[in-house]
Amino acid sequence: MVSYASEVASIHKQFNVALKRAKSRQAVLNCYWKHKAQHERLLKKHLKEEIAQVNKIKARIKYK
Ligand SMILES: [Zn+2]
Repeated sequence: MVSYASEVASIHKQFNVALKRAKSRQAVLNCYWKHKAQHERLLKKHLKEEIAQVNKIKARIKYK
């Protein structure tokens, strides 16, 4: 499984490359919006995995 941190590092690499190639204000902004969407997708997935992990551990603890 790919880790969240390495996926984030990978989109930042793509973002930096794309930014350097962007030749217009609009192109620079488009890089940002695309990057933001990628962040949001990854974060959503990551938080979903974490809540699953939390719930698994929670289920092992007896209710008091
Ligand atoms: Zn970023």
